[in-house]
Amino acid sequence: MSDALRARSASIWVAGAWLHRAFQSPAVRVPVMALLMAAIFISDTLTDLEIATAVFYIAVILLAVGRVPSRYVVGLAAICLLLTLVSFVLTKSGSREAGVVNLSISLSTICITTYLALKMVAAEGAAHEARAQLIRVARVTSLGELAASIAHEVNQPLAAIASSGDTARRWLCAEPPGVGRARDAIDRVIADANRASTIIARVREHARSAPAQRGEIRIDTVIEEAVAWSQAELERQGITLDLAMADQLPVVLGDRIQLQQVLCNLILNAIEAMATVSSRRRSLAIAAMSDVSGDIVISVSDTGPGIREEHMPHLFDAFWTTKEGGTGIGLTIIRTIVEAHGGAIWVDRMKPYGARFHVRLPASGIDAE
Ligand code: ADP
Repeated sequence: MSDALRARSASIWVAGAWLHRAFQSPAVRVPVMALLMAAIFISDTLTDLEIATAVFYIAVILLAVGRVPSRYVVGLAAICLLLTLVSFVLTKSGSREAGVVNLSISLSTICITTYLALKMVAAEGAAHEARAQLIRVARVTSLGELAASIAHEVNQPLAAIASSGDTARRWLCAEPPGVGRARDAIDRVIADANRASTIIARVREHARSAPAQRGEIRIDTVIEEAVAWSQAELERQGITLDLAMADQLPVVLGDRIQLQQVLCNLILNAIEAMATVSSRRRSLAIAAMSDVSGDIVISVSDTGPGIREEHMPHLFDAFWTTKEGGTGIGLTIIRTIVEAHGGAIWVDRMKPYGARFHVRLPASGIDAE
């Protein structure tokens, strides 16, 4: 690609991204759409009946779909249909027969486009719900696996404790009591209890230090994949996204799926935190950069209600949740994964509102290509 072409594509991309971002705000969206509708109405009324200018109303519908609630889209489509009919009545020039054909084409195009676009948005919503569900299932599965392995390992010493306890009781109840034998049985209870506790510590250690696959990971790609996963939901909830990634981020040695899980969970939590916000901008900011030691620091910030001071010490505790129906293990799993990668996670309370989670991951020392 020539430099001129590359520069032009870059500027088109930047303009597209700017328009996309600007369009998230109702203050930009509403006047732009009203202007567009007025322009279509005027040109449809002024041009001959042979020209089906009204089909351009579908542009207005497509701009609205996914950005405003479905009932408003239906209302907008009804206004477009009405304007098309008014233009038809007001237009004096051109063949009436051709005008009727064009009118029916325009009306049916607007109806069909609205119907299909709304169906598409509903399907996207369902897909997002399924993906969010998948993340929740992954949380529960990780927990289930951990619970199953603890249960499996600990079952045997527990059975031995019960049996030795029973033996000790029998010796103590015997006539005369077999105190020496009872003491031996109680010693076995203590030894088995210690064994169970060692096993639990070992399983926890194993869970902490078991990154499934180690590979060279480009963190910007992991972030982009996680963002793509949540894009539809961000748009649906009117959340603007600020993505700031430093050039030439160092490569991380780790498990791509697990790191994706970290990002997806943090984004999901941010989206859920902002669901109750209606009086200010809902905004998600993700940044990735190297710190002074060369490690990568990723931050995920939101404009949700933030975290109460008294909640801070519990945030990463297993099963600690403030959400109805929450599992309280998302952040626990995230911390386990991050620590297994030799990293750290912490959170800042933002002023006047919002939360910012930071994940630090050690750089592998391998240069990014
Ligand atoms: P869950 O999402 O099931 O509650 P998590 O472990 O992911 O489990 O989160 C634990 C708690 O941490 C949440 O219930 C919530 O109170 C708090 N939390 C997590 N992320 C955020 C956030 N971005 N803003 C405010 N609170 C948060």
